[in-house]
Amino acid sequence: MAGVIRRLDEAVVNRIAAGEVIQRPANAIKEMIENCLDAKSTSIQVVVKEGGLKLIQVQDNGCGIRKEDLDIVCERFTTSKLQKFEDLASISTYGFRGEALASISHVAHVTVTTKTADAKCAYRATYSDGKIKAPPKPCAGNQGTQITVEDLFYNVNTRRKALKNPNEEYAKILEVVSRYAIHNSGISFSVKKQGDTVSDVRTLSNASTVDNIRSIFGNAVSRELIEVGCEDASLAFKMKGYITNANYSVKKCIFLLFINHRLVESAALRKAIETVYAAYLPKSTHPFLYLSLEIAPQNVDVNVHPTKHEVHFLHEDSILDRVQQHVESKLLGSNSSRMYFTQTLLPGADCSSSEVVKASANSSAVTKGTSERVYAHQMVRTDSREQKLDAFLQPVNNPLSTGPTELTTEVTAGPPEAVVRPQDAEMEDVSDVVEMADVQEDTAKPGGLSESGHLSPETEPPRKRPREDADIEMEKDDTRKDMTAACTPRRRIINLTSVLTLQEEISNQAHANLQEMLRDHSFVGCVSPQWALAQYQTKLYLLNTTKLSQELFYQILIYDFANFGVLRLSEPAPLYELSMLALEDPESGWTEEDGPKEGLAEYIVEFLQKKTEMLKDYFSLEIDEVNWDEEKECFESLSKELAMFYSIRKQYIIDEANPTNSQNEDSDSGSTTWKWTVEHVLYKAFRTYLLPPKHFAEDGNILQLANLPDLYKVFERC
Ligand code: ADP
Ligand code: MG
Repeated sequence: MAGVIRRLDEAVVNRIAAGEVIQRPANAIKEMIENCLDAKSTSIQVVVKEGGLKLIQVQDNGCGIRKEDLDIVCERFTTSKLQKFEDLASISTYGFRGEALASISHVAHVTVTTKTADAKCAYRATYSDGKIKAPPKPCAGNQGTQITVEDLFYNVNTRRKALKNPNEEYAKILEVVSRYAIHNSGISFSVKKQGDTVSDVRTLSNASTVDNIRSIFGNAVSRELIEVGCEDASLAFKMKGYITNANYSVKKCIFLLFINHRLVESAALRKAIETVYAAYLPKSTHPFLYLSLEIAPQNVDVNVHPTKHEVHFLHEDSILDRVQQHVESKLLGSNSSRMYFTQTLLPGADCSSSEVVKASANSSAVTKGTSERVYAHQMVRTDSREQKLDAFLQPVNNPLSTGPTELTTEVTAGPPEAVVRPQDAEMEDVSDVVEMADVQEDTAKPGGLSESGHLSPETEPPRKRPREDADIEMEKDDTRKDMTAACTPRRRIINLTSVLTLQEEISNQAHANLQEMLRDHSFVGCVSPQWALAQYQTKLYLLNTTKLSQELFYQILIYDFANFGVLRLSEPAPLYELSMLALEDPESGWTEEDGPKEGLAEYIVEFLQKKTEMLKDYFSLEIDEVNWDEEKECFESLSKELAMFYSIRKQYIIDEANPTNSQNEDSDSGSTTWKWTVEHVLYKAFRTYLLPPKHFAEDGNILQLANLPDLYKVFERC
């Protein structure tokens, strides 16, 4: 059955319309504050009772309302701010619809007391349903306007029921007023409950924006603020404001957004900015943001519904993008102590990669000019001043552990360039200036180690690819200098299937990513003789130096097979005594069942002498536990044993560092030596000489500890 269509009572229509404009006390207060601001007030005071449901009183010291306008001030579509439709396009005042006061008067009792500058006295009028109830009455009053709204929604039952909690409403009121207060520094604001002597929000007319943020949101926020500001003429917008740096984060994003001085919301902008912060803040925490955008009025959709605070504007995507970039650059630059290399420059970069990008000073380099944006969490700190572990752990009197600036190891006889900072050497390595690092390391060795005297310009770059040249026929003019072939002027060609097979096995086992990581790593420090930390790109790795060095020496033995230099002992090694020593060592596993040690020692000597030719020829060394019978196994196990012998091990280091075991060295320089060796000999060799076998990635010998993007979130919490 069809219902009968009736015309609604006009008052009901107006009430419904008003209810859409004014949904809660805070909406009414926002409209009233905007009117005060339009009236050029410098002081705005808000008093409320029961969360504004019982009473809202807004007092300003603005221009006031002329007596003759008071009759119609609460009628719909009356405004002093807009005359023709075209004015909509250029409207710069808050209200323009002439709807706010009218709406309020349809759902509350409104009293206006106002005095203009040239009026002799103030006038007061009361309104109901948009109409003035009686002619304005003269009264005493200062210049400005006071509007009182009583019993809001007295005639809208449903709305009144929906707003049961005055505290909640009061909180909303405080939120709105304080945001306008922050946006309008230079104007004093206050909000209090009727009867209270103390205001809950109060700003002073001589306070700055930051002062206001401090007084409203507290010190924790205000001391972490970064000022932002950018503009783009082609997009016809300007932005300014304050945002918190990465040190500050809260559970819920605080976003004060003003567009053309009107408090609005923009989910799109919020999201754009939060995306930037996600890289800096701990998971599910948020920043404080206060942004004021001015967009050419014709580009802003002002004709949105009064309660729809969500705004849209022309060129929204481009403007969001610019704001996002600006916020990002400011965030990056906010901590001047942070230095970054742009990571995109690291691998295979030209020499400009050694240029440090100081984000704060040169933020545009990060965001502008490159089509690809580089986020902070993709950047790697690798500059020469980088702190290594030693800087934190060792006493300052240790020459290798003092601060970077004093860290010089002088080579007495060397030219000025020979004064090097080992950490520079590290930096050069990173930027691929390997020759420099090479040279410097020679001279930077502690104890003025460079017997070679000073830097020789002929020092050639280390071999990049040591693997292929193993089969090379006698290399002509081989000035190659590496740690094993110092005395080998020319290489011997190895065509032994066994050795070639072993080389192939190493090569097949190589893990390309690990190799790349080792090649381009930045050494961080030794955790212990066995473990060291290295950084590669955004990741921190824990590496088993013992295992890696063992593998390194094994590979050197296999690849440089039969090409080792000869160290001639001034006196022949006392093989018998050495064998006896070895047998005394519990590690030898000797038991009485093996027979007397003396006999065994004699056997060893005899045995080694039988193998002399091979040992001398290929290794110039002695070893046991070698499978002498099968050629390949023999070379393999011999090389493994030798590698073990050479590898960095705990025992070796403790012996070296122990002053009772070394004659002229104190323990400190002992520990310095092994650390230096690990960093500048072993890890340097790992860069170019080691083909890390795949199993290193799985057996914990190379472990990824952390990744910068994740760490960021943890560090920034502090
Ligand atoms: P609008 O702000 O869109 O003009 P309002 O309903 O908010 O519409 O206000 C109607 C008119 O009342 C305003 O145009 C202005 O002339 C006057 N008015 C309201 N509040 C004030 C005030 N605090 N000071 C001076 N004039 C005011
Ligand atoms: Mg208005």
